[in-house]
Amino acid sequence: LSKTLQEFWILDELKDIVGPENVSVEDSDKDIYSIDVSLPTRTWADRGGLRPRPDFIVFPGCTEEVSEVVQLANRYDIPIIPRGAGAGSMGGSVAFTGGIIIDMKRMNKVVRLDEFSYNVTAQTGIMQIHLEDWLNDRGYTTKHYPASIYCSSLGGFLACRGSGHFSSKYGKIEDLVLNMEVVLPDGTIINTLPVPNHSAGPSLEKWFLGSEGIFGIITQCTLKIKKLPEAYRFKAVMFDSLHDALETARKIMISGLKPAVIRIYDEGDTQQIIKNVLGEDVEAGGYMIIGFDGFKEVVEAEENVAKKIWEEQNGRDLGADPGYNWWKNRFNSYFPPYTLESTRELYCVVDSCALHENVEKIYNAMKSLIETKFAQYDVKFIAHFSHWYDWGGSIYPHYIVGKKPQDRDEFMRLNNEIWCAATSACIDNGGLLNEHHGLGVQLSRLMKKQYGPAIKVLEKLKLGLDPNFIMNPGKLGVKGK
Ligand SMILES: Cc1cc2nc3c(=O)[nH]c(=O)nc-3n(C[C@H](O)[C@H](O)[C@H](O)COP(=O)(O)OP(=O)(O)OC[C@H]3O[C@@H](n4cnc5c(N)ncnc54)[C@H](O)[C@@H]3O)c2cc1C
Repeated sequence: LSKTLQEFWILDELKDIVGPENVSVEDSDKDIYSIDVSLPTRTWADRGGLRPRPDFIVFPGCTEEVSEVVQLANRYDIPIIPRGAGAGSMGGSVAFTGGIIIDMKRMNKVVRLDEFSYNVTAQTGIMQIHLEDWLNDRGYTTKHYPASIYCSSLGGFLACRGSGHFSSKYGKIEDLVLNMEVVLPDGTIINTLPVPNHSAGPSLEKWFLGSEGIFGIITQCTLKIKKLPEAYRFKAVMFDSLHDALETARKIMISGLKPAVIRIYDEGDTQQIIKNVLGEDVEAGGYMIIGFDGFKEVVEAEENVAKKIWEEQNGRDLGADPGYNWWKNRFNSYFPPYTLESTRELYCVVDSCALHENVEKIYNAMKSLIETKFAQYDVKFIAHFSHWYDWGGSIYPHYIVGKKPQDRDEFMRLNNEIWCAATSACIDNGGLLNEHHGLGVQLSRLMKKQYGPAIKVLEKLKLGLDPNFIMNPGKLGVKGK
């Protein structure tokens, strides 16, 4: 769109829908909305490059307004890009081909608390921390504690299938969902069925969880809640090797125990996080934080059973203090001065998940490939393993480039090359493209490799739901017009 009569008309219509104060075409806003937390968008901005800017930014106040904006976009064939808090790290909320960014932040209300069936309904523009604080004040919790709880919205987590620190016991965000309200790409407002486990056909909500806005905009959601727990117990345990720590996590998860958290740090991440950020004086090996929550007697009993398992693997109990130190300071590594995001480093997270049998294999394959193939750039590959399930676990590696190119294009090219090499090695060894950050633009190109012919299911669904291909084009690697 150029700044023409066409823009004037559309702007005027948008103002009619959401109110004049809730639309922006300011250059400064367009600049801000041209980045998220992804390294490519920040690098480009930092080095003065032109970025994909939206034509309009709108702030709807209710579902009907979202629907009307989407209908308008269909009439004029303009892309729509849903945006929560813009803290995604894959470029998912960036207007790749221009269009209307629908910023959900005004839709931030708690709609209903059900203290009988234990659930809460909220609009999806609410920041996760605000929802959690609101519930905590009433004695409840969602148990969804992602590291970005302060900077991301409920809708963003639903759209990217986010994971929190307590996912091993309570699941990822999708495991908390009872139902959702969604605005489809033609503007139709639908509700998925009231409960998720039924035999009344497929689970509609599953199509929208992880769809990163390409199938519709999630406007409201009902989540399961719990009472705040009576007790927490955290411990740190040290193993001679990463292998022993990973094996312990596997044995604990398949035993039927329900730890709220198991986090394992390899040697590099023990240095980076446990020593540098948490200030613990520990040797190298496999460092584990394990925690339980719930009734006092139950958490004590669970920890005792887990202890037998880690002792079989020669785990040494470092006591409760380092465990509570992690719990109290767990967000520090994501904020300045510790986060690499606050520097101009070339580094990225290439997280994944896999069956137990593949977790260590994937870590070894990625590490040896990245540290050998890119040795000339002095690349370090470090990881922790922070979400565990009865079937497998996640791998959360960073690569950090010691000798980074100064030239912007070269910097970006190298980043893409390392990222694609790491992720391809992961897929080749049975891993998934991502665990909780989604794919955005960054990983779209590997969707075909991941899905094979099954990509057709997503493409047909996209075509059926969004024949004009207006919803978040360029994301999730699904073919457009
Ligand atoms: C320091 C830091 C730590 C992080 N730690 C974690 C973590 O522990 N766990 C975790 O899961 N993630 C983590 N993330 C990643 C980030 O928080 C998630 O990707 C989150 O889902 C982004 O939410 P957002 O509201 O910022 O979404 P945005 O960045 O605004 O959008 C992300 C994607 O979701 C789509 N979207 C947003 N809202 C909607 C909606 N209502 N309907 C449809 N589509 C929508 C957008 O179009 C885009 O594709 C971290 C990020 C940072 C910066």
